[in-house]
Amino acid sequence: MKSTVVGYPYIGPNREWKKTLEAFWGEEISEQQFEAQMKEYRLANIKVQIDAKVDSITVGDFTYYDRMLDLATMFGIIPKRYKWNSDSVSLETYYAMARGNQAAPASEMTKWFNTNYHYIVPEYEGQNLKLIDNKPLRYFLEAKENFNVEIKPTIIGPATFYLLTKEVETSNKPSYLLQLTNVYSQLLSELSLAGAEWVQIEEPILATSLSSDDMRIITEIYDQLNTTKGSSKLLLQSYFESVEWYEEVINLPVAGIALDFVHGFEENISNIRNFGFPKDKVLSAGIINGRDIWITPLQQSLDLLVELESLVTPNHLWIQPSCSLMHVPVSLTLESNLPKELNDNLAFANEKLQELAILKNALKNGRDVYQEAFENNRLARELLNNSLVRQQEEVQNSIKRLSEVSLSRISEYAIRKDLQQELLQLPRFPTTTIGSFPQTAEVKRNRTQLKKGQIGKEQHDNFIKDEIERWIAYQEGLELDVLVHGEFERTDMVEYFGEKLAGFVFTANAWVVSYGSRCVKPPIIYGDVKWENPMTLDETVYAQTLTTKPVKGMLTGPITILNWSFVRDDIPRSIVAQQIALALRKEIKVLESAGIRVIQVDEPALREGLPLKAKKHDDYLNWSVDAFKLATSGVEDETQIHTHMCYCEFNDFIEPIRALDADVISIETSKSHGEIIKAFKDAKYTNSVGLGVYDIHSPRIPNIDEMVAVVNDSLEAISPEQCWINPDCGLKTRKTDETLAALERMVNTAKLLRERS
Ligand code: GLN
Ligand code: ZN
Repeated sequence: MKSTVVGYPYIGPNREWKKTLEAFWGEEISEQQFEAQMKEYRLANIKVQIDAKVDSITVGDFTYYDRMLDLATMFGIIPKRYKWNSDSVSLETYYAMARGNQAAPASEMTKWFNTNYHYIVPEYEGQNLKLIDNKPLRYFLEAKENFNVEIKPTIIGPATFYLLTKEVETSNKPSYLLQLTNVYSQLLSELSLAGAEWVQIEEPILATSLSSDDMRIITEIYDQLNTTKGSSKLLLQSYFESVEWYEEVINLPVAGIALDFVHGFEENISNIRNFGFPKDKVLSAGIINGRDIWITPLQQSLDLLVELESLVTPNHLWIQPSCSLMHVPVSLTLESNLPKELNDNLAFANEKLQELAILKNALKNGRDVYQEAFENNRLARELLNNSLVRQQEEVQNSIKRLSEVSLSRISEYAIRKDLQQELLQLPRFPTTTIGSFPQTAEVKRNRTQLKKGQIGKEQHDNFIKDEIERWIAYQEGLELDVLVHGEFERTDMVEYFGEKLAGFVFTANAWVVSYGSRCVKPPIIYGDVKWENPMTLDETVYAQTLTTKPVKGMLTGPITILNWSFVRDDIPRSIVAQQIALALRKEIKVLESAGIRVIQVDEPALREGLPLKAKKHDDYLNWSVDAFKLATSGVEDETQIHTHMCYCEFNDFIEPIRALDADVISIETSKSHGEIIKAFKDAKYTNSVGLGVYDIHSPRIPNIDEMVAVVNDSLEAISPEQCWINPDCGLKTRKTDETLAALERMVNTAKLLRERS
């Protein structure tokens, strides 16, 4: 019986890692100082695990930016555009791939499975792979030199790395796979020679819906590694879901297998009950949730461990968190302002390590010694569940009565469209923006000054009003058709609403890494979500008083709020989504009653919440689409509902989009060369589509020709009557002059199109 972790947060309790990294980029510290600091953090992270009595300490999960990028550079998979030709990879090249440089844009970044972490996508261009650097070995030796404990190096596995590599030409595939297996073999045999007893191989790809072909390839990879890896034992890590090919996976030639008994609980447990578990292998049971911030139900987990112990060979059960703890904040001790009933229910990475120790010892020696811990654990959950924040009668009654609420608009789209046009009198190819305008230094300063008490609320609000006034004037000058107030009062599209709704709480320090050095601090939804006061009314209505053109109300959708928060686990996520949706429904009503007749509900995170397993998609889509409809269906036919999604594969997502029944959906179309919009054609989509005709992520001012070309491409798929013209996302990161120049050309594009048709 052993405890271990898959990985531990590298950002540091006070984001020291991030600060050092950014200081290095800003040339405030030398490379030598940078390396020294990083080593200090690495060793400190090991020390925390040792102090928490973790038996097998994991190293190699520490990174200077991203672990997939680490592998690519360790193996020499460096795209030609970085002009690399040497025997080693400098930090300069490494960070050029991560962030781009003058000569070459950065590598693509995308979401790591169903988490909010983003990794750098490996690009194979036919290079010859070789093992340039053995990072796990370096970290293994470093740890051995400093600590006398069991050290288990970890590495993301060959199957995951192979299947996530971008655009390998079909003809290249076999050679790429062969080379990749070879470098992994070499890496592992070096670890064996250095004396690593166990090596952890992380294969989250096993938790996705793999084809039988993929599973065959994986089997071949592991058969080969088994003959070449040397004497180390492999612990094959699966996480984020159950493994789909259970029998194949447990029979791979490895010494141990880790299964996720949190997110893949039902399937993994029933597989192990039905098919058993190999007598000669270690089972490492992921029973502490590595994806959330809640305490582990100790008794329940202990019961599960007792059962698992009976299903494996004696001494062949290990326990661990369900995945790397990098997805949770570091330490709860830095929070001092949380309500006690909530605080007693929270466990960040360090607290999860303590739970791991308790569970291990309770399983080994009986739970008597831990009577108090178990009792407190049970009581804490009970207290919070029974507390007023979770017992909002009004909210719960509305949820119970939901079957009485229609999720459909009064009339179908064709009818609504005419009524809306009668009211709004928009030209063909109407123009609008996605919501935010530049968050200038002054806008940010206004907010921090209010926070620090340097200015009063009135002064703050007056500044916002001035900004709104300025931007309404700009928009009128530009002759945009549907205007926005500009979102100057918002830091973040989720935080803003979370702060105004009951049931949310904000931490001081609960950061998690999102990508590179960028960290986010998701709000915690811990109680019933309840609308209390209008959240967006003042700014929107104020903007509307300044113009006769329609001003669009701007809200964040229920699923985006849900997916970008830590969410209570005592009720299903679908119910929390309904609660948020009901609150938004009220807000929309309030806006409508105040005369706001165009309202946008953003859902950029709808698609990213899709479960890893294809068979779970329908369930998620049903309740998430329903939540959007619950929020938006309460309005009159004349009120026009917009939605916006960005960075999303639309090809297989048209049916959910159709089901939303938004009057207008704005999407990114500028970079996809007609690809995205084609999906709308195949699906015979009839509602309106806002074409994101230029890329707001770059300071570049787009040319009219390019934007016309985007529209022309799109007109192959949808009719001119369906088209709106807009940028592809909010403009908050742009400068004022860039924004004005780009929008002027965008409006001219629309004018040209109107003349032409
Ligand atoms: N309305 C938001 C904005 O303009 C939308 C942001 C987003 O799609 N990520 O900033
Ligand atoms: Zn967007």
